[in-house]
Amino acid sequence: MTGITAASLRGADGRFDNPWPTWKGDKSLWDLREFAKQMRELRAPNYGYLSYKRQPTLADMSAAFPLRAPDYDALSSPDPAAVSALWVGHASVLVQMEGLTLWTDPVLADRASPLPFVGPRRAVPPALSPEDPWLPKVDAILISHNHYDHLCAPSVKRLHRRYGDDLVWYVPLGLAEWFAARGIKNVKELGWWEQAQHPGSKVQLVLTPAQHWSARGIMDRRKTLWGGWAALGERSRFWFAGDTGYAPVFKEIGQRLGPFDLSAIPIGAYEPRAFMAPQHVGPDEAVTIHRDVRSRRSIAIHCCTFHLTLEPLDEPPALLAREAAARGLADDEFVCLQHGAMMTVKDGAVVNSPLQRLPLPRPATDAGEQQQPQPQQAAASRGVGLAASDEL
Ligand SMILES: [Zn+2]
Repeated sequence: MTGITAASLRGADGRFDNPWPTWKGDKSLWDLREFAKQMRELRAPNYGYLSYKRQPTLADMSAAFPLRAPDYDALSSPDPAAVSALWVGHASVLVQMEGLTLWTDPVLADRASPLPFVGPRRAVPPALSPEDPWLPKVDAILISHNHYDHLCAPSVKRLHRRYGDDLVWYVPLGLAEWFAARGIKNVKELGWWEQAQHPGSKVQLVLTPAQHWSARGIMDRRKTLWGGWAALGERSRFWFAGDTGYAPVFKEIGQRLGPFDLSAIPIGAYEPRAFMAPQHVGPDEAVTIHRDVRSRRSIAIHCCTFHLTLEPLDEPPALLAREAAARGLADDEFVCLQHGAMMTVKDGAVVNSPLQRLPLPRPATDAGEQQQPQPQQAAASRGVGLAASDEL
């Protein structure tokens, strides 16, 4: 393939970079401190808050984000002419197409953090587990980048323990070493626009550019690459956006690799917008990306699971529903599913209706916090014009 290559973006300091004017450079320590201060001032539990309740219990979270039992019948006999995506939570999606089962960013731990006792705690349990006897054989894992809410060492170990070297790990440049240190060798490391054919199948996996960054510690910022993944089959095309801010590159992804039958596009972690916009899109930009890449149907990811930024955990799906309607998308064109629910697309149409989508708006559950605005009003009153964003 031609065009920008990741190698051309790696500077003399060994760090990768984003080549678009929409990237504003690394955050300063001052910026990070200000953001941390605002998060503290929220005084929300570390699994987040809801637009109608500032101090929700985990039971409130379960009511707001019901966890669906996976449809194991559908998982065990996928239609090879269709493509389906089951939302495991956050950026984690189980995809079935053309006889393959792919799993994006499997993060199954209780916290998205280097330490098990601090950091953002999940509001909803993962919908799937590698130890689940009913889980179909997983063929490949697609990793977008190394932030803790996307690459989780205990989850990687569990998957490796179950599937061993049969499992192929597709990772952006620079990450194979991290896997090798954990005894995992069946790793394909790709730069932007590079592709690999999955062994024993016709499906091509392509690492697509994203506007983001990477780091697991304080010294390794942008030393490994980030991106999304396109899975191109003979009959279906799936795209996982990864973690990204809005950049001019999505139209090019659509031109070169689209149209996609089904995509998974992030919608959350955007507040405060000015700070987060370079690295995380919000719902309005997610809809723009959905159109840029020429996606027929999309599911929302990167929301409703980990409390990473300032907005309430239930705001992104409300804003997505509003934005999709305002911009004339079909009712089932870009939806936020419930955790554990799935969307199956065949010949450009959803074939597993009715979809198990997140109910909106959610009713207030606490009489003491009545008078609280509904999510959309809350967003409008806080000046969330719909939009962009990031994470730690
Ligand atoms: Zn990230």
